[in-house]
Amino acid sequence: MSLLIIGSVAFDAIETPFGQTGKIVGGSASYISLASALFYPKVGLTAVVGEDFDFDFLERLKKQGVDTSGVQVKKGEKSFFWSGKYHLDMNSRDTLVTELNVLGDFDPIIPEGWDSPDYVMLGNLSPQVQITTLNRLKKRPKLVVMDTMNFWMEIALPELKEVLSMVDLLTINDEEARQLSGELSLVKAARVIRNLGPKYLIIKKGEHGALLFGPDDQVYFCPALPLEDVFDPTGAGDTFAGGFLGYMASTGATEFADMRKALMYGSCTASFCIEKFGTQRLEEISRADIEARMEKFHNLIAL
Ligand code: AMP
Repeated sequence: MSLLIIGSVAFDAIETPFGQTGKIVGGSASYISLASALFYPKVGLTAVVGEDFDFDFLERLKKQGVDTSGVQVKKGEKSFFWSGKYHLDMNSRDTLVTELNVLGDFDPIIPEGWDSPDYVMLGNLSPQVQITTLNRLKKRPKLVVMDTMNFWMEIALPELKEVLSMVDLLTINDEEARQLSGELSLVKAARVIRNLGPKYLIIKKGEHGALLFGPDDQVYFCPALPLEDVFDPTGAGDTFAGGFLGYMASTGATEFADMRKALMYGSCTASFCIEKFGTQRLEEISRADIEARMEKFHNLIAL
């Protein structure tokens, strides 16, 4: 069994009420890979970076067990760059800069031995690249999960709808779910979005947890761990998805009932991500740290 991830591997610059970073490593696939590798040993990454990238980070990914043979390096080009500024409540942010650079004409090459994965995570990326990735696989994976954001709804809605019709599960935040569906109620939004294709939908609500919607009006709620200090929420959504799918892959499962526990693991992994800037905290922790914190989750919801 294997888990293939595609998404952005990037430079970010982040401003929170606690401080500001210069250019640090970020990108949806960086967070997803680190999170899923905590649960599952066979993780492969497809991405593109420029010549300016921090190649030490790719070495560190390899040490965590991620196969980076699908990461292309574009000579003479710059890596994707994103900059964001968080509001005081840390639940919302403004995007200050999005420079696609190498992502502008990314042609995803599936590395050797990775064209028949059982699980696929299409991280936040151009919907056209997400479609191409799926079309290049030799067989239909057991479970395809995708993430997206408002940026793509605004510039590539037809392609976004096409990829939605090809996947099993979409993860999206509450604001984006409302934007995509045109509905204010998240329950109505979930119905509209599931009608576009995905059988399952996860709506992330930041510090207020996440909702999982499935067939036959099934809904499940998972809290986020109340933390004393939220330092930098960047990548929390991707870490959540990586933890979720890494756990699913580790069990070989694909159904709603299995997703409930995976949701808890995703939320638990994300609670580490936000404790430090960038990918720093994720690179420090082990599965044992996650298991220890899972107890707090059980206590949070036990009757
Ligand atoms: P999250 O906080 O989970 O929404 O993810 C933040 C990460 O998404 C950052 O590290 C960014 O580099 C990355 N990102 C932001 N905008 C885009 C975009 N349009 N396409 C791909 N990745 C993006």
